[in-house]
Formats: sequence, C-alpha cells, structure tokens
Amino acid sequence: MTSEEKNTLFGFLDLASGYCGSGYKREKESIIESPDTNSSLRVPLAYSVEEPSEKNSESENPDCLETVLLDIAACKACALASTRTRVVPGEGPQNPLVVVIGEGPGADEDKAGRPFVGRAGQLLDKMLASIGLSRDKNCYIANMVKCRPPGNRDPGPEEIASCLPYLERQIALLRPKIILCAGRVAAQNLLKTTQGINALRGELSSLKIRETPGEAETSSELDIPVLCTFHPSALLRDESLKRPAWEDLKLLKSQIENRE
Ligand code: URA
Repeated sequence: MTSEEKNTLFGFLDLASGYCGSGYKREKESIIESPDTNSSLRVPLAYSVEEPSEKNSESENPDCLETVLLDIAACKACALASTRTRVVPGEGPQNPLVVVIGEGPGADEDKAGRPFVGRAGQLLDKMLASIGLSRDKNCYIANMVKCRPPGNRDPGPEEIASCLPYLERQIALLRPKIILCAGRVAAQNLLKTTQGINALRGELSSLKIRETPGEAETSSELDIPVLCTFHPSALLRDESLKRPAWEDLKLLKSQIENRE
C-alpha cells in the first residue's frame, strides 16, 4: 500500500470513528493526520458543528464536507499537486453565514495546510472581526485553488477549472447566506466575468449553483448572493484601498442582517 493510500484509509477510519463515537460532532481543528509525517496529505477538517446541519439534512445532497476534504487531499488533477507541501481545503464552521473566497494558498498556507494564515490572513481576520465574523464561529474561508501556485503567481485557468468542482461542492454543502470574494481572481472566476474588481465591488452579484454539483439535471438550484472586495494583500500594498474596503464590509454586514 502506498503512503497516499494509507493516508486515505487513515482518513476514512478517523472519519468513521468520529461518526461512530459522537454522531456528527467533531472537535474543533480535528486533523486527519497522516501516519507518514513527510506526507503532504495532512488535512484540517472543517471546524465542528454541534448538530447535523439542518440545511443539509433537509437537502437531498448525499455529499459531505469530509468527503470533499478527502478528495482534495488525494487530488492530482493539475500540476500544482506536484509542488504543494499541503493541500489547503478551507476552514470554518459547517453552518457559516458567510463563505470568504480568496485566490489560492501562499507560502505560509502551504506550510500550515490552512487558508489565510499569513499577513494578509491576519488582516482578513481583523476585517471580518470588525463586522462580527470569525472563522471560529460564522465564517468559512476557502480559496479558488487548494494548492499553492509556485512563486505566488496567480492560479492559471486550467488550475482553477480543475479545482472549481471542489469549491462548488463546498459551497453547496455550506449554503452560506452570502459569499465574499476577496480580490479579482476569486471574483472574476466565481462570477465568470472579465470585469475588474472596481466594477464588481459595491454591488450584489449572484451565484447559481446546483444543490448537488455534478448532478446538473436532477438537483435544484441554489442562488447565493455574492459581494466582492479587494484582496487583503492589495490593502497591505495600498493603504488608500482601506476606506473603500470598509464600505464593502459595511455592505456585507447589512446584507447579512437583511437575511437573518
Ligand atoms: N491569499 C489567498 O488568496 N489565500 C490564502 O489562503 C492566503 C493568501
């Protein structure tokens, strides 16, 4: 058995023991940890929910976040798999108000296996906290691509296309009240537009997504509102973007309140 097969098996066993031991409940920051310490397949699970998601138990979606995470961990669909240290699937509660989508992991995230943990991530956490959001409580953080593009380049179109099904499955399972795209790459690729971030921010867009991605004909459609803002790295480079970014956060807060 290869170390990757061992990893996948280990992940399933860990998952099964979680379900058998305590139903849906998982401890915060549970880790499917590889028995092989050099492996890149050490996957942080989504943070716990106390109860099975009401939203998902109502839906017909047979998929679950843990399966998505294991699929990401085993993914070799594009060239990024060969240069990654760890996959960075995303993290947050399973019933978030908001899903924040960035571009792709950087060096810090690639090492940690967690999204937005570097300087930009610390700023993102502060921005979210200013409107009562946090990845511990009510905000899931993900990226367009789950593996680091070398040298922090933008992810390429094929890389984004290979990874999009994972993000769509995550969104369909998480069913947030609203999505926040952080930066041009996430905004343009999620909304399938060539408009720039300045044109996209400040207005509500919408993402139509199948409740069960992959079963396009049979499953019903979710229509999730989307807001766009600057990437926190852009704010670190250009202070003048902080004021408009604050306007975007206030809009996000009011849109969440309208939906609560
Ligand atoms: N930038 C991103 O877009 N995502 C991360 O996870 C970190 C930095």
